[in-house]
Amino acid sequence: MALGNTPDRKIPSLEDDHFHDECAVFGVFGHDDAAAHTALGLHALQHRGQEASGIVSFNGNNFNSHRAPGLVGDNFSSEEIISRLAGTMAVGHNRYSTTGETMIRNIQPLFADLELGGLAIAHNGNLTNAYALRRALVQRGCIFQSTTDTEIILHLIAISEFSTVVDRIIDALRQVEGAYSLVLLSNDALIGVRDPMGVRPLALGRMDGAYFFASETCAFDIIGVEHIRDVDPGEIVIVDKDGVRSIKPFTKTPRHFCIFEYIYFARPDSMIEDSNVYAVRKRIGAELARESHVESDIVVPVPDSGVPAAIGYAEQAGVPFELGIIRNHYVGRTFIEPSDHIRHLGVKLKHNANTGHIAGKRVVLVDDSIVRGTTSEKIVAMVRAAGAKEVHMRISSPPTTHSCFYGIDTPEREELLAARHDVEAMAKHIGADSLSFISLDGLYRAVGEPGRNSQEPQYCDACFTGEYPIPLTDRQGGPMPAQLSLLTEQD
Ligand code: AMP
Repeated sequence: MALGNTPDRKIPSLEDDHFHDECAVFGVFGHDDAAAHTALGLHALQHRGQEASGIVSFNGNNFNSHRAPGLVGDNFSSEEIISRLAGTMAVGHNRYSTTGETMIRNIQPLFADLELGGLAIAHNGNLTNAYALRRALVQRGCIFQSTTDTEIILHLIAISEFSTVVDRIIDALRQVEGAYSLVLLSNDALIGVRDPMGVRPLALGRMDGAYFFASETCAFDIIGVEHIRDVDPGEIVIVDKDGVRSIKPFTKTPRHFCIFEYIYFARPDSMIEDSNVYAVRKRIGAELARESHVESDIVVPVPDSGVPAAIGYAEQAGVPFELGIIRNHYVGRTFIEPSDHIRHLGVKLKHNANTGHIAGKRVVLVDDSIVRGTTSEKIVAMVRAAGAKEVHMRISSPPTTHSCFYGIDTPEREELLAARHDVEAMAKHIGADSLSFISLDGLYRAVGEPGRNSQEPQYCDACFTGEYPIPLTDRQGGPMPAQLSLLTEQD
C-alpha cells in the first residue's frame, strides 16, 4: 500500500483511510518459462488490482525487472519484454491503490540489493504500524524510495543482524503488524509468507517439478498448475534447490481470514481454504433467501458481483432467476474510478436494464455489498424506469459500517452509507421498496461455521463489526513524518 504523499498529511484516523491497496502476488521457482507463467498468473489475478503490474526475474546472475502502470495484458504481451525477464525464478504483482497518482517507484515487486544479495518482494495486504516503523527507520538513516509500506519490510530485512535471508525475514516480520501475504525472490529461493492471522490468501502449487505461489488458485488454473495447498497463517514456505520446507516462527494466534474475500473480492472459480468461492457465494444467497425472502416474480443479480448469490437466492426461494440487468464488460469496476464524478458516470456506462424481462414484475435485486450506495441507487432507479412493479434489494453481506485497514479499499467511514443510516433509512436512500442484508450468523453459516463465535470470531469481519483483530497502531499515533512526502514522480 502507499502511505500517502502530501507533505503535511496527518496520520489517518479511523475515519480517514485512503491508503489501501487490493493486490495480487505470484511467484515461480524452477520453470524455464518463469516470467511468461507469471504474466499469465497475474492476468488471471487482474481483478485484484488494475492500476499497475510488475515482474522481477532472476536468471542465475542478474535480476531483471519490468514494472509499469496499466493492465497485465498491456504490460506483458510483448515477447521482447518476456524474453528480457529471463530465468527460472520470477515474482509478480498487481497493484491497486486509491491515492490517485501512480508513482512508478511504488509499483511492485520492489527490489533491493542487500548485503546478502538481491531481494524482490511482492505484498498483498496492509501494515498497520507502518508509520511508526517508517519513522524509526528514517531516524536510523534509511532512505526510502517509495511511499509503500512494503518497502518498510525490505529495510527491516536489510538492517537485520541475522545472517540468512530467511532469518532476516522472520526478524523483520516480527516487528510488523497488519495483514500480509508476501512472495519474496532471492538469488537462490522463492519464499511465500502469510501473516499470523492469515488475513489475505496465498496458495502453493506445483507443475513440472516447479513450484508456484499465487494469491488465488484461478492463477494456477490458467497455466495448469496443481494446487497443493494454501500457505497456512503464520507460515513461511521456502522453495529452493533442495525442495520445499516450511517454518512457523511466529507466536500462534487464532486465524482471521478476511470474510469479504468470499463475499466479493476473490474470483468465484478460486478455491480458498478448501472452499470454492462460487459455492460459498451461492450458499450466502440461499441463507439470504431463508432470512429475508419477499413475495416476488424474478430474482435479478447486479452483475457480475451479485450473480452467484442471486443464483443461490433464486434456487432457495424457488423464484425464476433472470438477467434483468446487463453489464458492459469493457468498463472497469465502478470503484476503480477515483473521482465521484467519474464514479457516477461509471455506473451508467456499466449497467443497462433488460427491460422486457423486468416490466410489470416484482423484482428481487441481489448485490454483494452496499458501500457508498451509489450503485444501488442507480440500479434501483434503472429497474423502476424499466417498469418494475416492486424493487426489493437483497445484499449478500452485512451492512458495511467500518473501513478496512488490512488491504481492501474502502472509503472513509463517513462515506459508508451503513455507517450513517439504519437499514430503513438506507432503503429510502436507494429508493427500494425493501432492503435486507444477510445477518452475520447467516454469513458464517454460509462459510461453513455454526454461526459467528462472538468471543473469538473465526474470520476478520471488521468491516461489518468494527472489531479489528490486529491493532491499528498508526491510527493512534502522532503526525506523519515529513519524509513521507516524495517529489512528484516524473519517471
Ligand atoms: P457503492 O456503489 O459505493 O455502494 O459500491 C457497491 C458496489 O461496489 C457493489 O456492487 C460491489 O460489488 C462493489 N464493491 C464493494 N466493495 C468493493 C471494493 N472494495 N472494491 C471495488 N468494488 C467494490
